[in-house]
Amino acid sequence: MVPLLGLNTEELRTVAATSGVQAFRGNQLAEWLYQRNARDFDRMSNLPPAFLESLQKHFIIGRSKIIITQRSTDGTVKLLLELSDGARIETVGLPYSSHYSCCVSTQAGCPVGCGFCATGQSGFKRNLTAGEIIDQVLSIGEILKETGNHGRGRVDHVTFMGMGEPLLNYDATVKTLKLLNNELGLSARNLTVSTIGQVPGIRRLSQEKLPVTLAISLHAPTDDLRHQLIPGFVRWTVAEIISAGRDYVSQTGRRLTIEYCLLNDVNDHAGEAQQLADLLQGLNCHVNLIPFNPAEGLPYTASPPQHVQAFSNLLAKRGIQVTERARRGADIDAACGQLKQRNC
Ligand code: SAH
Ligand code: SF4
Repeated sequence: MVPLLGLNTEELRTVAATSGVQAFRGNQLAEWLYQRNARDFDRMSNLPPAFLESLQKHFIIGRSKIIITQRSTDGTVKLLLELSDGARIETVGLPYSSHYSCCVSTQAGCPVGCGFCATGQSGFKRNLTAGEIIDQVLSIGEILKETGNHGRGRVDHVTFMGMGEPLLNYDATVKTLKLLNNELGLSARNLTVSTIGQVPGIRRLSQEKLPVTLAISLHAPTDDLRHQLIPGFVRWTVAEIISAGRDYVSQTGRRLTIEYCLLNDVNDHAGEAQQLADLLQGLNCHVNLIPFNPAEGLPYTASPPQHVQAFSNLLAKRGIQVTERARRGADIDAACGQLKQRNC
């Protein structure tokens, strides 16, 4: 059985035409899937019964099952979702004063295995499909509608910062970006892809004519230090990664985000701040300092406030734009790097 979720309007029109009904029925199907969050065919009352019967014979809708919903005291919501083959992933909804953001997973687990990330330590199961990625946005959207706790009641920002490395699942990531843009009407500038620095993927993405925001998780200004933090994945040097970032900025006109997770006495000294500032001179970027979120078995601790402040001040003094990311949803293990594969 083929899932319908993940197909765009054009593809759904083809489904309609090959099922022997007029192509515009595909547009109605798209509306049911992406605007009205249909979970079963029975609700699709404006479609001809014969078409519905044929759909039911050959297709499934392709929604995941919500297994657990957790709510943080700060409004963050985390869902544990079960996919059709039993794989389980997590997705997070984050309310802000001006918008509502969904942080999606692109893989079940992650093959990169960063030493400071709970996802990386939980192994890798498989890539997600575009349908399974966009389903996360729809599921968070449903929770929003139920609780009505946010003005427009819909997700308007999506960050690819959940479980997995999006650029190692390139095709599904780009297909999802296009679906979010075209089917859900989200602006490309409100979509952020975060990568550990997969250079070929960054270069391909810059050619997509989809000016999404790119975030590069750098975490270290030198190859040696990066190698310590990300032992299995140092295929590209820091210089190659920053060069790909520079090209992304010139191709898309978008400001680059550099993510830097501050680990106490590992990458948070004045020396590293200076090296980072040298590296980023003249680049249209801002540095997002991420507080380290502890998880079981991770051998690091968060930098104390005085290290964070000194690091941030030093960058600012060198003319680098810098922000400190607030820790969100930590009480439900929904903060950056805390998502992992769970079986219960
Ligand atoms: N694989 C991609 C996207 C998912 S990780 C990437 O690495 O960019 C999303 C962000 O969370 C990354 O910047 C990552 O470095 C950060 N992160 C991972 N583990 C963390 C932890 N324990 N504490 C804080 N941030 C973490
Ligand atoms: Fe994978 Fe990103 Fe976690 Fe590294 S930080 S293990 S790339 S999810």
